[in-house]
Amino acid sequence: MSCTRVFVRASRGYSTSVQTSAISKFPEGSTIYSLIQPTGRIHLGNYLGAIRNWRDISSIESRDTKYIFGIADLHALTLPQDPVILKKNRYEAIASILAAGIDPEKCILYHQSSVPEHAELNWILTCITSMGYLNRMTQWKSKAKTGDDSSVYQDEVLANVKAGLLCYPILQTADILLYKSTHVPVGDDQSQHLELCRHTASNFNHAFKTNFFPQPKTLLTPTKKVLSLRNPAKKMSKSDIDQNSCIYVNDSFEITSKKIRKATTDSIQGKITYDPIERPGVSNLLTIISGLTRKPMETTVDELSWITNHKELKDYVSELLEAEFKDTRQLFDELTKNTEYLDKICKNGNDRARSIASTNMKEIKKLTGLD
Ligand code: AMP
Repeated sequence: MSCTRVFVRASRGYSTSVQTSAISKFPEGSTIYSLIQPTGRIHLGNYLGAIRNWRDISSIESRDTKYIFGIADLHALTLPQDPVILKKNRYEAIASILAAGIDPEKCILYHQSSVPEHAELNWILTCITSMGYLNRMTQWKSKAKTGDDSSVYQDEVLANVKAGLLCYPILQTADILLYKSTHVPVGDDQSQHLELCRHTASNFNHAFKTNFFPQPKTLLTPTKKVLSLRNPAKKMSKSDIDQNSCIYVNDSFEITSKKIRKATTDSIQGKITYDPIERPGVSNLLTIISGLTRKPMETTVDELSWITNHKELKDYVSELLEAEFKDTRQLFDELTKNTEYLDKICKNGNDRARSIASTNMKEIKKLTGLD
């Protein structure tokens, strides 16, 4: 029996996404991998949906497990960037990750662009990915603001959407597979791209008669999606024009409270209830509370039965945010002033990442006949 058939059998019935809370230990030899874009400071969605999850996961004691986290600076180029601001954002993103409590000794912390093997594998995988699959992805449509039903068959899309924006899920696949990652902690918005990653790993293994790439699992937090404070029909995002929709982890107490005060709620009076359809704004605030306190929604709503109006709810959220981010904010301010220290951390992380990437790339080249 060929390696491919053995692999296909072994992957049948494989559960592709897991809640982080369900994990007490990773299988020996696991590689946990995730990146964040340096498109500004880190917001509450990044924190609850990804970075706090990185911190929690990296404190799980597992034998021979690698933790690789970093800055997706090549991905940032899919939208126009001012080089001076991008450079500043790269520092701020590293400072935010460190301030959020990621240990750079235990975890590899690096810049994607410092490891050229990402771009090399990206090309090999681009050559085995169908245009139709990319066309179905929703993230490029949302970033290009072309509408959910848009398609590369439309003249307007062909004229205005850059190839990098359409193809970046392949680069994301290359990022993950370059390290033979087994688990990828991300927010729900990335679930579709992780499906593409697993599909591409199978395609590669099938095409080159190997089982070189594992099928990486998506690790989701209970707070899969934090919504915009001003328009809870959308996810919280730093690219939102209305900056009152987005809480940054280093916003001052005054700014945070002002944004929360302005958050869209509803006209329903009395008891606070969780109802994402009828009360999306209030439910989003409850999601934030439940995420910060790590308590299930049912318990959160029960414990908040003393709250009788929106103002009390908003004050409560602002206080919780202050308690969570007070120290992080201070540490972030200190770290951003110390770029020498940040450079040292990244140099160390870049070298460690490059060493794994170049070993794996050698194997990949052998498999594809490029050695
Ligand atoms: P990005 O800033 O787009 O690179 O996202 C970095 C990480 O944050 C990814 O794992 C995303 O899934 C996660 N993320 C981004 N926005 C949100 C959000 N509003 N709610 C939950 N997770 C999010």
